[in-house]
Amino acid sequence: MSLHPSIGMFDVAEDILAVGGIRLDRLAERVGTTPFFAYDRRLINARVSYLRSVLPRDVKLSYAVKANPMPALVQHMAGLVDSFDVASAYEMKTALDTVVPPARISFAGPGKTSQELSQAVAAGVTIEMESAGEATRILEVGNRLGIRPRVALRVNPDYQVKGSGMKMGGGPQQFGIDAEQVPGLLRHFADTDLDFVGFHVFAGSQNLHADILCDALSHNVGLLLSLADACGFHVRYLNLGGGFGIPYFEKDQPLDLLPIGQRLNDLIEGSIRPVLPDARVVIELGRYLVGEAGIYVTRVIDRKVSRGRTYLVVDGGLHHQLAASGNFGQVIRRNYPLVIGNRMGGQDCETVSVVGCLCTPLDLLGDNVCLPSAEVGDLVVIFQAGAYGLTASPTAFLGHPLPPEILV
Ligand SMILES: *Cc1c(COP(=O)(O)O)cnc(C)c1O
Repeated sequence: MSLHPSIGMFDVAEDILAVGGIRLDRLAERVGTTPFFAYDRRLINARVSYLRSVLPRDVKLSYAVKANPMPALVQHMAGLVDSFDVASAYEMKTALDTVVPPARISFAGPGKTSQELSQAVAAGVTIEMESAGEATRILEVGNRLGIRPRVALRVNPDYQVKGSGMKMGGGPQQFGIDAEQVPGLLRHFADTDLDFVGFHVFAGSQNLHADILCDALSHNVGLLLSLADACGFHVRYLNLGGGFGIPYFEKDQPLDLLPIGQRLNDLIEGSIRPVLPDARVVIELGRYLVGEAGIYVTRVIDRKVSRGRTYLVVDGGLHHQLAASGNFGQVIRRNYPLVIGNRMGGQDCETVSVVGCLCTPLDLLGDNVCLPSAEVGDLVVIFQAGAYGLTASPTAFLGHPLPPEILV
């Protein structure tokens, strides 16, 4: 079995996986219970440093909190990134608890309630408007509170980004304002008390193709600069989106960041700075920053053979880590990388199915995987659990307790 690149990011000592320098068996004792999630600070730090070394200095880095909103992790991110992107009042609260100033927190997403908008305006965050109706409600809130709301306009581009795991731009969308409607909307709100700071475009997620991401960045810059040119206000903010993917499956190749850094550099120097010398240029990333730094650890409760197939039954499942079961936006179910964390040296390999403890056939964590022969009590580790793990899972399903999350 070839080692998946994200497994290789973790240390192994005496055949035991280590997280943040701590052996997994000891970590499990420290936590006191399984299953649990563990996030490795050092891996997050290394990822951010690498990004900073490749991206132009002039590009600011924003963390999309919805990827992993664990408060301790968000606090840690506050020391690493320049800004936060939030998508709910709860995420906004978590971000406001950090040292990141409110104006550096952007609030995106469709269906923000008037209550959420009031909280956002009162907090002084930047609201990324997703529709004309939302703009009207923000204005009402601002008038009521006597505050001039800081807003940016999220644009739904007139092109699609190919190769993204999730498309969130191009064609009809619940996200953003169609590019062709933007000039009319800006005219309509021109003499109101909305403080327009700039534009945002986010067209897709989980893309592993550097060439496509480069083209998307060029398109996004072209679109936003043409809107900026015609908008009639001083553009201070250009959020170019992101969508950088991580390798979940065996055949996935990690994203090659170098051409993206080069393209951003060309765009900054050749296109953006000549016309907008002082605008804040932002890339916003979620899973790329934290996804590979997290693992989900679950213990083997039972081992059984049914008509020739061996099952490892674990104490976790899709109620904590839905994505690994293949039920979070995947078309064809494929296995997330997984290992027996206390048998990393195992040469022999047996083919087993790893299933969770929920009473549904959907609760499949590893289908016909080749693993060292495991026993009851062993620790199964599922990788790529640092983003869209616990908070993207149906935790109430079957009523098991919530698993602890730790940052090491
Ligand atoms: C979800 C989201 C992100 C983060 O996406 P990743 O794939 O985790 O990088 C960034 N921006 C917006 C607006 C989002 O909705």
